[in-house]
Parts: sequence; C-alpha cells; structure tokens
Amino acid sequence: MNLNTITEVKRPTSAQDIRQWRDGYAWLAGGTWLFSEPQVAVDTLIDLPSLGWAPLTVTSAGLDIAATCRIVELHEFKGPAEWRAVPLFAKCIDSFLMSFKIWNAATVGGNVCMSLPAGAMISLTSALEGVCTLWPRDGQPREVPVADFVTDNHANVLQKGELLRSIHLPASALSKRFAMRQGSLTHFGRSAALIVGTVGDKGEDFLLTITAATPKPVQLRFAKLPSAAELAQAIDHKLSPESYFADVHGSAPYKRHLTYYYAEQIRAELA
Ligand SMILES: Cc1cc2nc3c(=O)[nH]c(=O)nc-3n(C[C@H](O)[C@H](O)[C@H](O)COP(=O)(O)OP(=O)(O)OC[C@H]3O[C@@H](n4cnc5c(N)ncnc54)[C@H](O)[C@@H]3O)c2cc1C
Repeated sequence: MNLNTITEVKRPTSAQDIRQWRDGYAWLAGGTWLFSEPQVAVDTLIDLPSLGWAPLTVTSAGLDIAATCRIVELHEFKGPAEWRAVPLFAKCIDSFLMSFKIWNAATVGGNVCMSLPAGAMISLTSALEGVCTLWPRDGQPREVPVADFVTDNHANVLQKGELLRSIHLPASALSKRFAMRQGSLTHFGRSAALIVGTVGDKGEDFLLTITAATPKPVQLRFAKLPSAAELAQAIDHKLSPESYFADVHGSAPYKRHLTYYYAEQIRAELA
C-alpha cells in the first residue's frame, strides 16, 4: 500500500550518516511489513539496502548473515560440506508462509526485528546459536544472542534507532546434526510450533529450541541426549501451561501438545 505520511526517503551509504534519531524515522529493509499497513507515526524511511552490505560471509569461525540478506539469498546458500546444519536454512524458510513478494524482498533482519513468535528466521538463527550484532545510534556495538534478542510477541531489545547489523552463526553449531518439526493448525497456516534439536557427533551438547508455540524462543540444553522422561520433565520445568502463545493460529493447549510431541520425535530421531 502507499504510505501517504512519508515525506522523505534517505539512502545512506554508511550507517554513520544517521547520527541523530528522532520519532518518525524508520529503517526500511525489504518493506514487506512496513508497506503492508498504515504507518501513521512514520514520516521518514531510511533505506538499508543502500548500505551495500555483503549478504553472506563465510569464515573459519562461521557464517555472518547481514541483516539486509534477503530470505531468498539465504535459501540458495550452499555451505562447506562439514556444515551439516545448512539444510535447516531451507527447511525453516519453507515453513514460512510467504507470497512471491515477501519471498523475494523480505530480509533476514526484517524478520528478526519483527519479532513475531512464528518468525522463521528467529527459529533458524536461535536454533543455530546465532548472535546478533547491534549498532546503537550513539555508543559501541553490542552483541546479543538471538534467543535473548526477542523478549515477547513483537518486542525485542532494540533501543530507539538501534540497528541490527548482522547475525553470526558459529561453525560449531553449523556442524551439528539437526532434526526439525513444524506444525500449523491449517495446511498452509502460520507455524503453531517450530522446534529444532541439534546435537554433536557423539550425542553431546543437545540443544532443543522451541519457537512459534511460545512468545519468544525457549532453549533447553543438555550435556548429552536426554531420555524421553528427562526431556519431558525439562519442558515441564521450563514452561508452565500458561507460558504458551495463544492466537488465531492455535490455542495454548494445542501448541503445548505439539511441543511435547515434536520434542520427543526430535530426540528419538537424533538418538
Ligand atoms: C501477509 C503477511 C503474512 C506474514 N506472515 C508472517 C509469518 O507467518 N511469520 C513471520 O514471521 N512473519 C510474517 N509476516 C511478517 C514478515 O515477518 C515481514 O513482512 C518480513 O519478515 C519483514 O521483513 P522486511 O525485510 O520486509 O522488513 P521491513 O518491512 O522493511 O521492516 C520490518 C520492521 O523491522 C524494522 N527493521 C528492519 N530491518 C531492521 C534492522 N536491520 N535493524 C533494525 N530494525 C529493522 C523496520 O523498521 C520495521 O519496523 C507476514 C507479513 C505479511 C504482510
């Protein structure tokens, strides 16, 4: 839709060009959410693609995903053979119900900054132990794990004007085996639960990441693969029946049921 409150679009070539932040400014990534509803409080858009950041950078330490990396670019990524978790990229992206426009324009950073429970890029990057680099308008860059970046439904740790620069996925997490399950109330519906387990070669360092069923990512880490009873008990301990996210895409009891059901399937698959 047209945003008829916008009076200026800035196209900086460096984030340093935007030193002063004021109400009415908004970072513009793919624009798929910004242009999907009126933005009456916004008068100036600040274009992020004009910063020209490389979308994906492979190093021996892992993968750096620029916030402006488009979801379609991440889908096409082929990593080194030892990064066995790379097929999870496409699995998470395919679980994200998208139109042609969102598929080609939406960015990884835009999806993470929306901080919706069913944010598939949140599921992916938190499961792979991603760490966000944030650029405040005044102050030093800071790092926050993706799992802590999202604080609630459509809420996160970003301060006014703070920019999500990139997400680092460590090679250690990319090299783990994984299993993933996703379920929706309707066949092509938004995720009601998207759960990922990762584990080392010898069954060590099992990490279960629960998303979509809860307002923010919830992680359970075990030194080695737990038994079915230990896993269920750990979920009981971490999540009360009230802590599940209820919306039109599923009631809290439904999402709770899916969480236990999928968590056990994941544990059994990785055992
Ligand atoms: C019909 C429809 C269905 C949808 N279904 C889903 C769904 O099932 N699951 C889901 O997760 N999402 C869903 N979405 C929302 C989707 O997450 C967003 O449209 C998309 O991920 C936003 O990405 P973008 O790059 O287009 O961001 P934009 O629309 O450009 O920006 C989104 C917000 O993030 C801010 N922002 C963007 N990048 C940064 C950055 N680097 N640093 C700081 N702030 C930033 C913007 O200022 C804005 O507030 C849906 C949207 C629509 C319109």
